[in-house]
Order: sequence, then C-alpha cells, then structure tokens
Amino acid sequence: MTEINLMKLVCEKVKSLKAYHVETVEEGIKLHANENPYPPSPELLKKILDRFEKLDLNRYPDPDCKALKEGISTRIGVPTNQLVIGNGSDELIQSLMQVFCNEGDTIAFPDPTFAMYAITAKGMGLNVHTFPLNDNWDFEAAPLIEKLNASHARIVFISYPNNPTGNCFSRTEIQKLIENFEGIVVLDEAYYDFSGQTFLSEMKDHNNLVILRSLSKIGLAGLRVGYGIYPSSLADEINKVRLPYNSNSISQIAATELMNNFDTVQKQIDSIKEERIRLLNELAKIKSITAFPSDANFILFQTSQNGENIFRNLMGNGVLVRNLGAHPRLTNCMRATIGTKAENDQFLDRLNKAIQ
Ligand SMILES: *Cc1c(COP(=O)(O)O)cnc(C)c1O
Repeated sequence: MTEINLMKLVCEKVKSLKAYHVETVEEGIKLHANENPYPPSPELLKKILDRFEKLDLNRYPDPDCKALKEGISTRIGVPTNQLVIGNGSDELIQSLMQVFCNEGDTIAFPDPTFAMYAITAKGMGLNVHTFPLNDNWDFEAAPLIEKLNASHARIVFISYPNNPTGNCFSRTEIQKLIENFEGIVVLDEAYYDFSGQTFLSEMKDHNNLVILRSLSKIGLAGLRVGYGIYPSSLADEINKVRLPYNSNSISQIAATELMNNFDTVQKQIDSIKEERIRLLNELAKIKSITAFPSDANFILFQTSQNGENIFRNLMGNGVLVRNLGAHPRLTNCMRATIGTKAENDQFLDRLNKAIQ
C-alpha cells in the first residue's frame, strides 16, 4: 500500500484555483451556456450522418484538419496556412499563452469578461492584469496602453462582443490598442455570427492581431470546435504546442459540413437575432429589470431585487440562466441565452412571476 501526501505535490498555482463551475439541470430550459437552441437542421444532420457511416474510427483523425480548414478558408476568405483548429477555442486561448508567456509573464483583459482567460492564465502561473470597464461596459485605450507596455504584458484578450456584458467595445479604442500595444491583441470573436463585427480586415496591416472563432455558439457546442486566425508565421508556432490529433474525426467532419452548408445555420442565427430584439423589448417593459444592449446571443440583465432569489426561483421553475451576482460589478445580474421563441416566452413568463 502507498499513501503519500498528494496535496503536497500539487502546485500552489493550481491549489489556489477554482474549477470552472456551471450549474446544470436535467429537465427544463437551458439558457445558461450561450448554445444554439436549435439542433442541426435535418438537411445538415443527414450530410453529417452520411459521412459518419464511412468513417474509419480505428484510424487517427487528420492531424492537419485539411478539409475543415478548406471549408473555413472558402467561407471567410483566409488562406489555410493562417488557420489552426482547436478542441474548442478554449484550447487556442491556452496555446496562445503557451507560445507567448513564460511563468510570471503578464497577460491582460478587461473586467468583467470571459472567465477562461483568468483560469487558464493562473493555471500556467501567469500574472493577470485586469482593467475595469466603465459604466457603458467600454474602455479607453490610451491610459491602458501605457500601463500594459510598462508591465511588458504579452497578450491582451478582447472578447468581441464581450461575454458577459454583450456589447462590442468601441472600435476606435481597440484600433488604438492594436496600433500601440507592444504585444499580441487577441480578438475573441466567439459571437461573431451574432454581431457581424470583426477585425479580420485589419490583419493585413497589423501583424500583432489574432482572431479566435468558435462553432460552439452556432450549433456544435457538443463537438468542441474552434479556430484561430493568425499571421502564418505564428500559426506555425501555435502548431508546435498543439497536441497531435487535438481535433477528433467526428468533430472535423461535422464542422466541415456545417461550414460547407452554412445557409442551414444562418437561418437559425437570423431567428436568434430577431428574438434578441423582441426579448430586449419585452425586458425593457419590466420595471425592476435593467437589460443591457447585446451584440451576442445572450442578454445581461440586472434586477433591483435580490438576484440570487430570482435565479433560484427561475431554476426551481425549470429555467436555467447564468447567475453572475458574485462579481462585484454584476450584483444582482444574470445572463440569459436567447433561446427559441417558445423558450423565450417561457423565460419571460417565469421571470415575471419570479419578480412579483
Ligand atoms: C464560449 C466562449 C468561448 C469558448 O468557446 P469554445 O469554442 O466552446 O471553447 C471563447 N470565448 C468566449 C468569449 C466565449 O464566450
């Protein structure tokens, strides 16, 4: 028998971390994870399943994800040598830190923003420089750039639009950041399909720009597919730290079919965008709720009542949203993913009941 002190062996940087925690419900309406509420259309599903039948599961997947990169390349007009496929874009966030940071180096991002930047950085022993967003959930670049350059920050992560506030930061401020920051600016465009706004065209003039996208928010969350767009020399460096076969064959096939048949998802995206307008209108009618404008597939809202109670009440009635109230800037705030029309109606109904 062996019984050593395992906790003594675990690194301090890991011990002090908290695992990414998501509440979940078996039954009910899931508006907590910014997924696409619609399953793949029958048309897309058939194309995917036809290819699954011919799949050699005994073989490793294509390590270069050639077909998927070609699908992406055709759709967005970027050469394949600038693309890297990730097992979710989360993986690409980590590989950027691996390529640019030694332990103790600094990375930066606004606060509040996507939690994985901090979790990944701390797990790798990096310093985190956060900068607060103003009351419009935006930031000014000039004072920031000075501080970032002084601390030799290696990377700034910009969620565009920002999760969980929902807005795209001011374009001119990001532009200043790209032009004056002496490090890498990562534009995390996980919600690009809902915002229609991108910095892709800036890549030809600025070699410190990296763009991340994800298929998780548009229908393939279960398959973990994200991609990064890099200057080609950087893509080569990312590939050195990427684990071999990080993207499995099933994910590659489904993602390739989605890219090559994008019209089937575009309809879903369009209806989510229509529902976004309706949901914001409906939320605006509720006195005790402040809903913030959104360029994404979710809406941040604040209640003037006890947010924790409202969250629990919604959950007890089968509607799961993301509770953000623990964050000092997000007291009594929740984030609701835009669902199908029926789901959104139920959400509004339960919310109205919960606040009474
Ligand atoms: C959801 C999300 C991601 C992660 O996407 P995956 O591809 O599922 O790993 C990345 N960035 C932001 C801002 C997100 O909200």
